[in-house]
Amino acid sequence: MDNPFWNPDIETLPRDQLRALQWERLRWQVERCYHQSAFYRERFDKAGVHPGILASLDDIRRFPFVTKQELRDEQAAHPYFGRYTIAPQGEWREIHPSTGTTGKPVHTIWSAEDVAYIADVTARTMWSFGVRPGDVVQNAFSYGLWVAGLAVHYACAKIGCLVVPIGAQLTERQIDYILNLKSTVLIATPSYGVYLSEQLRQTTYHSPLTTHLRLGCFGGEPGAEVPATRQALEEGLGIKAYDYYGLAEIGPTFTSECVAQAGLHWSEDLHLIEVIDPDTKEPVSEGERGVLVITHLAKTATPMIRYWTNDLVSVTTEPCACGRTHARSVGGILGRADDMIIFMGTNFYPMQVEQVVRSFKELTPEYRIRLWTDTERKRDVCAVVVELVEELPPDCRDVLHERLKSLLRTALAFTPQVEFAPKDTLERTAFKARRVEERREAFQR
Ligand SMILES: [Zn+2]
Repeated sequence: MDNPFWNPDIETLPRDQLRALQWERLRWQVERCYHQSAFYRERFDKAGVHPGILASLDDIRRFPFVTKQELRDEQAAHPYFGRYTIAPQGEWREIHPSTGTTGKPVHTIWSAEDVAYIADVTARTMWSFGVRPGDVVQNAFSYGLWVAGLAVHYACAKIGCLVVPIGAQLTERQIDYILNLKSTVLIATPSYGVYLSEQLRQTTYHSPLTTHLRLGCFGGEPGAEVPATRQALEEGLGIKAYDYYGLAEIGPTFTSECVAQAGLHWSEDLHLIEVIDPDTKEPVSEGERGVLVITHLAKTATPMIRYWTNDLVSVTTEPCACGRTHARSVGGILGRADDMIIFMGTNFYPMQVEQVVRSFKELTPEYRIRLWTDTERKRDVCAVVVELVEELPPDCRDVLHERLKSLLRTALAFTPQVEFAPKDTLERTAFKARRVEERREAFQR
């Protein structure tokens, strides 16, 4: 119980030994992909590479990236699962298609070995942010085809927790469990965590907010490491809030913050992490921002070699206060390379707007970014729509309007329109939020 590590030998492995372990596992993975997967063999041959050219970990940079679209194309050309599915069907245990918003889902298979290591690494992450035997874990991650619900469920069993397998729905029931089953841990998306905190406040409006919740971990979308969102979660729910990350093609819940709240710790014994400049496709220096690229070092059924996640991160190998030696991404996921909005020649990410909106006590955490074309004036318009916590006198409203515009101008390098919407009129979401509404005629991205 007192041990801060789930797997002390691995989590505190000196970095040279960690690199040696990665090297051994990388060679195993590249070798089997080349010999067992026509998908990889064709790609490697085309790029003029093969397992024999690997003389060090860095040589992986000579191998081609894999994008989600390429996996989708492969599935279409070689239905139903594509030739990157290596394990024989008798060894498959679970299927988890990606929750893609565009195009056909990409299938990911977990073998029995994959299920075992995914459950174990999820237990490792949960232990690292403080889950212990006896905790009551309210698992508001979606169950079913989405990867993360089941991974947390399995990990709770390994740790020895009571899990409430509620999924991302039934808000009244969620609140009932929080108050009466005395849940101690909440696992959810940050959007749902913020929504739940608002609902909890309304339900317990006339009594002091006393729950047994002590910590929460939030994934499925970035946010828990945005200072204002973290604050909204921590104050709204009376907890410590941690960041979680995973993706269908690689695996769920394999990286989270530790109790030091010092960024996402990568499980480097299982995943080789690269950060790549999206333009040059070359690695960036440590600490610089780039696209996260991941190679599976243990996955057996549908292994990924240099999977291009499209998520932006920076990585540091500086030691963490917790004693773990695995690299971290401070600030978590900094945006998606394809979330970037180009407006009048300026680039920005929705998270920059979120950070400003959520720093205002007068506003609810909900917001929208609306982009449209004013056809009469022949120009594009960007508006940030926010909600007031309570109606304000006109002069106070004007002052707030100016302050908000000024901070948005500093964050975005242009001045968007600012509009106030009545409280609770912007739709809330239990799952992944869509906060950008794009109706520009000349789509500029
Ligand atoms: Zn740490």
